[in-house]
Amino acid sequence: MRIAVVEKILSANDQLAAQNRSWLDKARVFSLNFMASPGAGKTSLIEQTVSRLTEKLRLGVIDGDIATSFDAERAQAAGAIAAQINTGGDCHLDAVMLQEALVEFPLADIDLLIVENVGNLICPANFRLGTHKSVLIASVPEGDDKPYKYPGTYRGIDILVINKIDLLPYVKFDMARFQRGVEALNPGVKTFALSCQTGEGMDAWIEWLVHSQQQYLKTEF
Ligand code: MG
Ligand code: ZN
Repeated sequence: MRIAVVEKILSANDQLAAQNRSWLDKARVFSLNFMASPGAGKTSLIEQTVSRLTEKLRLGVIDGDIATSFDAERAQAAGAIAAQINTGGDCHLDAVMLQEALVEFPLADIDLLIVENVGNLICPANFRLGTHKSVLIASVPEGDDKPYKYPGTYRGIDILVINKIDLLPYVKFDMARFQRGVEALNPGVKTFALSCQTGEGMDAWIEWLVHSQQQYLKTEF
């Protein structure tokens, strides 16, 4: 009985997610859902991405946060059109919350939308938002055991970013062990290792984004 109720909620969420997707496609906005644990560097990656891309693409950022709007302000300062979703204590975004933000968002004025989910490795992966790609940002100080501890999140993602690689010499993080865990759950997942601090590895990430947005525009709707 309990399972049936959960499934019903998810399918209502999925219907709204499909609607969100159709709005994004109508506006030809390529969109990413950024997931990570708190402190992995979602907002820093957004800042760096926005400031490196503003010449090429018009960026939008929708920030999900439990209470504050600091992250949206940082994205805006970097050059994006930014909006905030305060989840009122909820530990994830869902399709309803994103839809409420999309209704007021100037989709016609952007090419790429980054949705920053609430920092949490458990439930955000269970709620489709309607975005085109799910991106997980892992970070070196979190430790190499995260794929083993949060298999559900690692399994469902399209892109993996390993942030803070500048800290590899100082932190106990076995890259091979981490990657074995990832490979078991999500074989061949596209991975970028980078540092928002030093800029190492950022070029490959930016090139991928530009390329993917161009490929997206070529798809038939
Ligand atoms: Mg943040
Ligand atoms: Zn949650």
